[in-house]
Amino acid sequence: MGAAELSDDPGVAEMIQWIADRYDMNKADLARMFQTTQSTIHYWIRTGRISYRNLRKLRSSYYYLHNTRDPHGDERKCDECGQWRRLPRFRVGKAICRECENAKTLQHYRENRESELRRRKAKNWYNRSATAG
Ligand SMILES: [Zn+2]
Repeated sequence: MGAAELSDDPGVAEMIQWIADRYDMNKADLARMFQTTQSTIHYWIRTGRISYRNLRKLRSSYYYLHNTRDPHGDERKCDECGQWRRLPRFRVGKAICRECENAKTLQHYRENRESELRRRKAKNWYNRSATAG
């Protein structure tokens, strides 16, 4: 398979399986290769859930063994929008990009404001009826 036909975003299980099949590696070999435990390898395969750091390792091995480079080597996939974005688009330690973070903050602000307005309206109504009464 040439680099041209390689997916730029293969699944975690797919990459591990490919490495295992191609190099005849069992889970113990894979665990050694990724400096982790066999149960972690099993977890990655079963759930596709993997830390950003380990995904970097897995992807660089996968593409290296295909004689090419990770097409998203200097990027990170946003947990929220699923887009690959350059690292500066993420705040340190954040798994969602700044755009998504901003959108969430804005949404949170709007929701807060709406409930605040509702609360104020109820309070005004109460005050008015109290003075009128
Ligand atoms: Zn995003």
